[in-house]
Amino acid sequence: MDFDKMFSTQLNQLKDEGNYRIFAELERQFGAFPKARSLDDDAPDEVTVWCSNDYLGMGQHPKVRDAMIETVRSCGTGAGGTRNISGTASHHVALERELADLHGKESALLFTSGYVSNWAALSTLGSRLPDAVILSDALNHASMIEGIRHARCHKVIWKHNDPEDLDRKLAALPANAPKIVAFESVYSMDGDICPMEEIVEVAEKHGAMTYLDEVHAVGLYGARGGGVSEERGLADRITLIEGTLGKAFGCMGGYITGSDALCDFIRSFASGFIFTTAIPPAVAAAAAASIRHLKESNVEREAQRAQVARLRSLLDARGIPHLHNPSHIIPVMIKDPVKCRMLADILMRDYGIYVQPINYPTVPKGTERLRFTPGPLHTDADIDHLVNALTVLWKQCALAHAVA
Ligand SMILES: *Cc1c(COP(=O)(O)O)cnc(C)c1O
Repeated sequence: MDFDKMFSTQLNQLKDEGNYRIFAELERQFGAFPKARSLDDDAPDEVTVWCSNDYLGMGQHPKVRDAMIETVRSCGTGAGGTRNISGTASHHVALERELADLHGKESALLFTSGYVSNWAALSTLGSRLPDAVILSDALNHASMIEGIRHARCHKVIWKHNDPEDLDRKLAALPANAPKIVAFESVYSMDGDICPMEEIVEVAEKHGAMTYLDEVHAVGLYGARGGGVSEERGLADRITLIEGTLGKAFGCMGGYITGSDALCDFIRSFASGFIFTTAIPPAVAAAAAASIRHLKESNVEREAQRAQVARLRSLLDARGIPHLHNPSHIIPVMIKDPVKCRMLADILMRDYGIYVQPINYPTVPKGTERLRFTPGPLHTDADIDHLVNALTVLWKQCALAHAVA
């Protein structure tokens, strides 16, 4: 058996379709973000990162860094075990308290990533609750889809951000079946935000539990960074709020929050929680420092909003089409996979602007885009440089301008 040949055949197919992924090799430099050192031959030595999910630059905040370093010095590197077998440190317990408080819930439970938290929580709920039905928004993230698949329970997909479709689909289910409505607040590719109150009302009407992924909103929305559910005063009506420590909080790990009974249930039955090493205490300490800071400080959120508004208005002024949405995510639509990759390559090579092209299957074919995430550490000059570069490329590549 020539296994390598079997691997190559499928990889070549991916390359032919223009969907083969090439990573940009970068070294983030403390104090310089969003500037980073590029290790690629056909890129300048220093580039500006325009597609990071470290939305507020907390990954280089002195408080967060110091918490991590101090904890490594006092406790060492790894947790040394699963949570059950020697791996629970005071840092994990304190972080779970911090998270429960962030969302106004009784309890929280940590996972090794946001992906794992969705996968583990949804698969456990769907498989352990007798006759459970999971109702999933059509554009939910891969981690939720995989969790639902693994649950092997009855699954219903409702139209993206459409509470009326959800209502119809809930009404068609047996009244006594446990129903779980799974959705996100900020959708990361289009940057749209769900009609949360309407969804919650529909779910309540049918006695369904609500499962909300706030991964792209925690730290960023709400007076204390509790996400869109905090901003809209709806957190107490959501059964389970899931989030990540890897994006706006600048660290790594994932979590769920909810009632004591819910978190204890997942803690006790979820394979993806039980059989894996706990996150390093230093990571937990750093995440807690980041969350604590963002509960008190609006400086980062306000500066981010200002830079998002600035980039949007300059793109509008130059007629460069981008999706209008109420979030911090600015997708510039290219609508062609080859042009999308080419533009990203030129931006990197000639302008030191790093933005990863977003192609199928992450987004539907024909909606290829460059996805920009301006943050508080992008300067006005960074934004001007980006808009000038895009303007030049728009002319050269004869891409359509937005109809004014
Ligand atoms: C990134 C992401 C996750 C996974 O979070 P990680 O901590 O990166 O594993 C979950 N849900 C959504 C919507 C995401 O974009």
